[in-house]
Amino acid sequence: MELSVVIPLYNEEENVSILLARLYEALGSDGYEIILVDDGSTDHTVHQIQLYANEQVRSISLKKNQGQSYAMNAGIALAVGKYIVTMDGDLQNEPSDIPRLLNKLKEGSYDMVTGYRKDRKDAWHRTLPSRLANSLIRSTTGVHVRDYGCTLKVFRAELAKHLDLHGELHRFIPVLAHLRGARIGELAVHHAPRLYGTSHYGLNRTLKVISDLLLVLFFQKYWARAMHLFGIIGLLLIGAGAVVLMYLVSLKLFGQDIGGRPLLLLGIMSILGGLQLVSFGLIAEMLYRLHQQKHIEIEKITDHEQISSGKKPTFQPMPISARQI
Ligand code: UDP
Ligand code: MG
Repeated sequence: MELSVVIPLYNEEENVSILLARLYEALGSDGYEIILVDDGSTDHTVHQIQLYANEQVRSISLKKNQGQSYAMNAGIALAVGKYIVTMDGDLQNEPSDIPRLLNKLKEGSYDMVTGYRKDRKDAWHRTLPSRLANSLIRSTTGVHVRDYGCTLKVFRAELAKHLDLHGELHRFIPVLAHLRGARIGELAVHHAPRLYGTSHYGLNRTLKVISDLLLVLFFQKYWARAMHLFGIIGLLLIGAGAVVLMYLVSLKLFGQDIGGRPLLLLGIMSILGGLQLVSFGLIAEMLYRLHQQKHIEIEKITDHEQISSGKKPTFQPMPISARQI
C-alpha cells in the first residue's frame, strides 16, 4: 500500500460524502486507503462513515470525543501505507494538493512535507491568534515553518507513527518531527471556507496551546536531562533557604526572637520546594532511562526479526480504545 489518508471527524455529517468524492477524483481508484476517524461525534457522522466503509475506506469510531490530535494518532496507528497524509474532514483542505505534496516528499527526499495555507479563508479572529501562535512557536522552538495550524501534511510512515499525538500536539508536529531529526519541506496549499458544520475551536484553545508549547519546549531541551532543569532550580532554592535560615539562627544566637518572622516561613518553604524539585528531577530522569531501555530492547527485537526472516520490521500499532466498525 503506497498511501494512507487519515482524516479526523467530529460532527462533520454533511462533509463526509463530498470529501470522499473529492478524494476519489484527486487520487484515482486504487493504491491508497482512507482512514476516517470519528472522534465521538454526536451527529450522524458515524452513520455516514459506516455507509461508505469498504476495503479501501476504513473507519474507526472513538468512544468519546478525544480531540483532533488523539483522533489523528488513532488513525495513523491503523494506517498501513508507506506514506501517510493527514487532513481535515471539513472540506477546508483540498485533496487535489495531495499528489503535489507526495511528489515533493519523494523528490526532495524529505521525511515530511507540510502545507501552508497561502490564502487562508478564515475570519480575522481566527487568523490573528493563529499568526501570533505561529511566531511564538517559531521564536521559542527555533523550528521555522510558515503555518503550524495547517493539517494537510504528508509523512513517511515511520515518522508519523512515532509522533505520539495527544492534547493539542498536532499544532507542534513540525517541532516533534524536528526532534526526531526529520527533514521537513513546505508547500503552498489551497484553503476553502467552511461551508457545513462549525469550527470546534475558539479562544479557549489558547491556554491549551500554551501549555502544550511548554511541554514541547521541555521535550526539546530537557527530556534527556531533566535534572539540569529541576535539579538546578531545586538546588538554588535549597541554597537560598539555607542562607535565610542561617541568618535567622545567627539572630537567635544573639538573643533575638525569630518565631514570628515571615522570613522563617520563607526559608523553610524554599528548602522544601527545592527538595521537591530535586526529587521531581530524579523521577523524570528515571522515567527517561526506563523509556530508553524499552526503546533499545524494541530495536534489538526488530533487528533480530529482520535477520531471521529477511523482512523489514513492521510497526506494531499502539492499542487504542477504539471500536472498529
Ligand atoms: N476535529 C476532531 N476532534 C475535535 C475537533 C476537531 O476530530 O475535537 C476534527 C474536525 O472534524 C476537522 C478537523 O479536526 O476535521 C479540524 O477541526 P476544525 O475545522 O474545527 O478546526 P479549524 O479548521 O477551525 O482550525
Ligand atoms: Mg476547519
